[in-house]
Amino acid sequence: MIKKRRPSLPSKKWDLPVFVLLAVLGLSQFVLYACAATTPQTTVSVEPVSTEAKHWSYTGDTGPEYWYRLDPAYAMAQYGKSQSPIDIITSDLTVSSDIIGKPVFAYQETQFEVENNGHTIELVPMAPDNYITIDSDSYVLQQFHFHSPSEHQIDGKPFVMELHLVHKSAQGNLAVLGIMITEGAENEVFKETFAALPQEITHEGSSKPEVKINLADLFSGEQGMYRYEGSLTTPPCSEGVKWSIATQVIELSSAQIHAFNALYTGNKRPLQPRYERTVYFVE
Ligand SMILES: [Zn+2]
Repeated sequence: MIKKRRPSLPSKKWDLPVFVLLAVLGLSQFVLYACAATTPQTTVSVEPVSTEAKHWSYTGDTGPEYWYRLDPAYAMAQYGKSQSPIDIITSDLTVSSDIIGKPVFAYQETQFEVENNGHTIELVPMAPDNYITIDSDSYVLQQFHFHSPSEHQIDGKPFVMELHLVHKSAQGNLAVLGIMITEGAENEVFKETFAALPQEITHEGSSKPEVKINLADLFSGEQGMYRYEGSLTTPPCSEGVKWSIATQVIELSSAQIHAFNALYTGNKRPLQPRYERTVYFVE
């Protein structure tokens, strides 16, 4: 009897509970989505993180493959699905849409402090005079620094170095501009900088060289750019970072490259999987 009745259970009976279940699932999905969409953007911080962060490096047992184990705050390094850097494949780009626009640059002559933070040479502006506008939001330049060799690759090709300009919005969101570097003529904009690289790690109270730089002389921003959603390339590898990679390449002389490599070489994170991310090309 029971067996016979089961298939003929009146479907009406199930409509309400199923509806309630679906509604609850739908609501919880929405809450999860809303949290996922907002939380990372409010927690990202400018690289590098505070001096209290756990020690990390580019080699050995504190190297990139172990970053996630050094501190629970570095978990995204292993479990994130939107990590940087990536290999940009130029045959697989989505041409700009209305939403993904080209950054507009407002750079001007500014005094910078040159720091040696133990991972790279970093220049910190002494006034918030440089900013970019990206997808209608303003991001103020926080610092810029170098990697050798490049972190991003284009069609599997690394560059001799890569410059990262890190910008932050009033809401705390990050937008990083990456510019590839090739060996060529001496770079006049960085002439003073590379002649004054601090040989020792600089600290809070250290006296640091100051240089005057106009980034507008370095980079016009007129040429096309690749854009994608990624992460910091150093711990904590926070996601929600708007990446722009310039197609315009800049040059440093062999002497300038050697001056940097004498301090840091191999300060690059390995390429990360792209997963389902779209890489845009904006003209
Ligand atoms: Zn960087």
